[in-house]
Amino acid sequence: MFSDIPPMAWVILALGLAWLALRAWQKRQAEARAEARELRMAELMAEREKMAHEPPPSSIGAVVSDSKVPVEEPKEKRCLGCRTVNPASSTTCAGCGLEL
Ligand SMILES: [Zn+2]
Repeated sequence: MFSDIPPMAWVILALGLAWLALRAWQKRQAEARAEARELRMAELMAEREKMAHEPPPSSIGAVVSDSKVPVEEPKEKRCLGCRTVNPASSTTCAGCGLEL
């Protein structure tokens, strides 16, 4: 009874099976890609969530460096005229009376 089937029918059948196999393979590939994309999106969302709760590292560095930098406050003023060292709070030189 198989001999009744023309060779062309076998070719068509084989092509049909090959097409079905290809479709199944492509579907699996697409599913794998979608899964990988979803995983990536979940990772990105988790990272964004973390970033929202924690201040960015750059601002932490800025705060730390700000606290480390000593505030420059002169403890004394040297008179330009007579070189007498006066306290920073004074407005005039104790030695010559020049305005500091
Ligand atoms: Zn002076």
